[in-house]
Amino acid sequence: AKKHGRNMFQLYTTDTEGLAKTDLRMEALLHKALENNEFVLFYQPQYHAESGKIHGIEALIRWNSPELGMVPPSAFIPLAEETGLIVAIGEWVIEEACRQNKAWQDQGFPATPIAVNMSLRQFYQADLLETIKGILKKTGLGPRCLMLEITETIAMQEDIAADILQQIKELGVRIAMDDFGTGYSSLKYLQTFSIDHIKIDKAFTDKLHTKEGRAIIATIISLGHHLDMTVIAEGVETPKQVQELKDLGCDVFQGYYFSRPLAPADLVDQLFG
Ligand code: C2E
Ligand code: CA
Ligand code: CA
Ligand code: CA
Repeated sequence: AKKHGRNMFQLYTTDTEGLAKTDLRMEALLHKALENNEFVLFYQPQYHAESGKIHGIEALIRWNSPELGMVPPSAFIPLAEETGLIVAIGEWVIEEACRQNKAWQDQGFPATPIAVNMSLRQFYQADLLETIKGILKKTGLGPRCLMLEITETIAMQEDIAADILQQIKELGVRIAMDDFGTGYSSLKYLQTFSIDHIKIDKAFTDKLHTKEGRAIIATIISLGHHLDMTVIAEGVETPKQVQELKDLGCDVFQGYYFSRPLAPADLVDQLFG
């Protein structure tokens, strides 16, 4: 067992050294990316199940790197979180999403909430509330047109999360619980915080065709409705899923079946064109 353990350890260290090198290069590029304006936001619409009307738009970051090409968030957000760069990147995301949303409103498009993804690190910043206030003021976006998507990982840090979320809510900003059911003790956090929306993770939507998957989604929808929340299904890809989710009473759909995340101009064409 001891020998096995050492081999495992050696494997592990080799691996992490390799990773560390890639990470260092990526980290250097990431630092530069913010200064050089290499981040872009793509936008994915969310639609009401019944009316088909637009409910909201989720802003999703991409890194348009001259060295690496278009990098998806899964390839750099974890590193940004580890290094703390996510705080500055996250602030850029909130401001850019608010700026874009206000610009759309100024062009005469109907006011639609914009959702941004939040990382735990951002909640460790003592000035998060001030940052959000400042961005709303600077961009002129109404607080009701901003929605923060938090995860259960954030909600778990009850000491920091409860107060700050309450204060953010008092501004009029809305809160959505993202990736619902994939983290821990979800029910407790739903009860503790005033969450407006819950988002059913794609992992559940994918299992909608199974008896168990259907039961889980039905339960999440019923729970959400009992707590007066709007329930959003993510990763909706097929007309069959749309019908089944409608039958189960799901409120809002988001997924490739309706639209992939789009560059700002394409989003305008899709929504208002
Ligand atoms: P998420 O918040 O759960 O976002 C939904 C992800 O599912 C997005 O991937 C979206 O493009 C993808 N998606 C939407 N509909 C469908 C569908 O029908 N089928 C499939 N296969 N995928 C679908 P994306 O844009 O690659 O983002 C991945 C994750 O990266 C996000 O998951 C979120 O956790 C994180 N992320 C994205 N933008 C930001 C950001 O600005 N800040 C932070 N902290 N995290 C972000
Ligand atoms: Ca999200
Ligand atoms: Ca999600
Ligand atoms: Ca997810």
